Amino acid sequence: MLSFSSAMLTFSSAMLKAVSKFILMKTELMVQTMSGDDNIRWFHGKITREAAENILRNGGEDGLFLVRESNTAVGDYVLSVMHGNEPVHYQIRRHGEDAFFSIDEHTVHHGLETLIEHYQGDSHGLETRLKKVCLKDPPPHDARKHGRTNLLHRATKEGNYTVVSELLKCGYRSVDAKNAEGQTAVHLASVLGKDEILKKLIESGANINCRDTAGNTPLHYACQMNLPSTVRTLVQMGGANVQVRNTETGWVPLHEAAYRGHVEVVRALLALDAPAHPRTPGGGDKTPADLAAEGDFTECEEILRNYKPPSAKSNRKEWYHGSISRNKAVEMLMESDKELGEDEDGMVGIFLVRWSDRKGGGYVLTMLHAGQPYHFQIRKKDKFYFIDDGPYLESLEHVIGHYSMLSDGLPAILGRPVTPKKASTPPPLPPLPAELQSPHTTQVNGVSRGIPPPLPPFHNRSVCNPAFMPPSTSSSSVISSSSSLSPVSSKGVTSIATSPSSSTKSTTPASRRGEEKVVDAFQSHSPFRVCHNSSIDKVNIPREYLTLGAVIGEGEFGSVYQGIYHAPNRMKLDVAVKTLHHEHVASNREEFLREAVVMMDLNHHCVVKLIGISEGQTLLMVQELLALGSMLDFLLESPEQASPAYELKLWASQIACGMSYLEEKGFVHRDLAARNILLASKVQAKISDFGLSRALGVDSDYYRATQGGRWPIKWYAPESFNYGTFSHASDVWSFGVTLWEMFSYGKQPYSDLRGVQVIQLVEKGERLPKPARCPEVVWELITKCWAYKSTERPTFSFLSDEFSSVAEYVNVQELVGSAMDGRAERV
Ligand code: AMP
Repeated sequence: MLSFSSAMLTFSSAMLKAVSKFILMKTELMVQTMSGDDNIRWFHGKITREAAENILRNGGEDGLFLVRESNTAVGDYVLSVMHGNEPVHYQIRRHGEDAFFSIDEHTVHHGLETLIEHYQGDSHGLETRLKKVCLKDPPPHDARKHGRTNLLHRATKEGNYTVVSELLKCGYRSVDAKNAEGQTAVHLASVLGKDEILKKLIESGANINCRDTAGNTPLHYACQMNLPSTVRTLVQMGGANVQVRNTETGWVPLHEAAYRGHVEVVRALLALDAPAHPRTPGGGDKTPADLAAEGDFTECEEILRNYKPPSAKSNRKEWYHGSISRNKAVEMLMESDKELGEDEDGMVGIFLVRWSDRKGGGYVLTMLHAGQPYHFQIRKKDKFYFIDDGPYLESLEHVIGHYSMLSDGLPAILGRPVTPKKASTPPPLPPLPAELQSPHTTQVNGVSRGIPPPLPPFHNRSVCNPAFMPPSTSSSSVISSSSSLSPVSSKGVTSIATSPSSSTKSTTPASRRGEEKVVDAFQSHSPFRVCHNSSIDKVNIPREYLTLGAVIGEGEFGSVYQGIYHAPNRMKLDVAVKTLHHEHVASNREEFLREAVVMMDLNHHCVVKLIGISEGQTLLMVQELLALGSMLDFLLESPEQASPAYELKLWASQIACGMSYLEEKGFVHRDLAARNILLASKVQAKISDFGLSRALGVDSDYYRATQGGRWPIKWYAPESFNYGTFSHASDVWSFGVTLWEMFSYGKQPYSDLRGVQVIQLVEKGERLPKPARCPEVVWELITKCWAYKSTERPTFSFLSDEFSSVAEYVNVQELVGSAMDGRAERV
């Protein structure tokens, strides 16, 4: 209720006249409030869970509900509702500082009252629909989408400074209250350019950045209404965010001003350090200059296009580390965080910038906030740099300067940089080898990532089609090496140095069948040595049959390109072309060809197919193109498109199926990990990256690695990191880690622990924790894959059967069946 009468007592007699007409309004409003809608009086303030349960139990009815403030997370609320005879509680999460809330992750509502209305109409996944209000108060103003016009709104609208200041002086309690349009007094003052009132509201602590039902903040309105002085008041005095987006359109205030050709407001915003080239989101990518041009506002367009920002205040010496790995970057941030032990207020993060060779090479901003590392690719377009859909900025230094002032989409603003020991310079961009430049085209037509190619032949009752399987021949096999460990490197793998002399004769543990065969597969069973020349000739593709397009990935030895293979039979095939860069040719040619030789022998719908090799100045490996690319990138970039109940289970079953095929062929993969699974479509995953794979000799049950190189320790079974022995059973361990990565949506296993620490942990019997979204039945299988004794782990053929036959997978099989029948793919 309004505290108008107490305010009256503090009025001086000179004010009485100005205020008297508001007495009338007060009466009017009291009538409105008393006859007001009980439907939103479900808010019980900050009561405990127990208190809420007692209140509900007293009421007793099914569907009786109340809302209370969360006792664990500031800004959140809890919905408590009776179902049967028991109260049930749902956390209502707040998104950002404004009044946006959700119970499940998908449906965000503007205003608590809108959220409650949603669940009153239908249960929408709750135990019960909300049926009856447990009466108390209406929700707090800052949690609502709209409210009712009150005295402060009216006084502001009328420009009545005296009444506004008296209301505020006497502690008027609803300074952030909203009217029916969701506008606060600050909105109204900003629409009308009532700067004196606005200043009073700011002094009283009113919220400056809140949005109304149209998604606008007060600053959006000041820009729309061509009010430069109001813009200055909001930003300079109120600290309004110049990059705040309208929730409906995604426009920031400068878009609003430029779209209307408001030159003075544009100048004011630029003088207030608003970036000149923010972009409209969702691929619209329009800058204010573009919008001004569309409206023929030439002067405005020129100001924006010719704008020269002040020189950047930050210096790259403070934060640029050159080419360091993702893990190293996180390690440095963590160390620096520990060393300084600063108790940041949660608003800032520590950071550095590094060069990454992934995806064609580029800068990456790595930051640590609340103990959590984040990596943001800094992209480049023409002369500008940008992150995600953030503004175009003039230099790397301006990017850091911008995000040091505003979080603008990052989890926090950039606070303290981690400074490199000595200054570094960026490595040159990897050049496209001259012979790869097609004389006609550099872009492949008709091939685009994201459009799945036709599905490969697939059995419609099972995810793993036995028709593709060779007759069952071999069984378990093992490999080995002695080794010393070094820190984790960029691909999440660890470098290992082994001396050739110590490698072949060390004792190995008993193999899965108790046999003790020690074989140096490099010397006696290397598929490369045995079959290299004749096999390679069979698949050699003349260079002129290939047209190369965009870079789609970065491999160990060079870029991966999208391309077209113009086959002799006049067919055109979309392909992926892996290259071996000049600088790697001498040292890695054999290793590169080995992968091709291994793949040449494989033919299965869950394994990436090799089409051929093209030998020339640059060595090329031509493979079938998997349109959706790396599964790990897919999970990181589009987690919402991979449900644990459908896609993840389906992919898991296909990986098990492909591995079971490798098991039967006698191949040990040695590098099974989410990063090495590619997606042809959302219903077909394939195993790739056979760089470390080894064929086992006919009489060999294991393989011993005798060479140094990168070792993915976090994916390795105990016998692999202890003795360097590899087998199908050690691949099964890696499969468990791969499943963990999938159901964690691309998290780094063992987060930032180093290889040695992981080994200690596994040896102590500890394992990775269950990912929150991992179904129980999958978790059971994962834990079986991590049995310490290799003989106790399941085989791939068991896992494959398990994945494709348990009841829970029936849906998945139906999904595959329907995709096969040409019906719509589930999205
Ligand atoms: P790799 O050298 O196999 O690790 O490949 C590096 C990256 O290139 C992968 O993560 C994929 O993004 C991409 N890539 C490799 N092979 C293919 C393929 N056959 N089809 C589509 N993308 C591929």
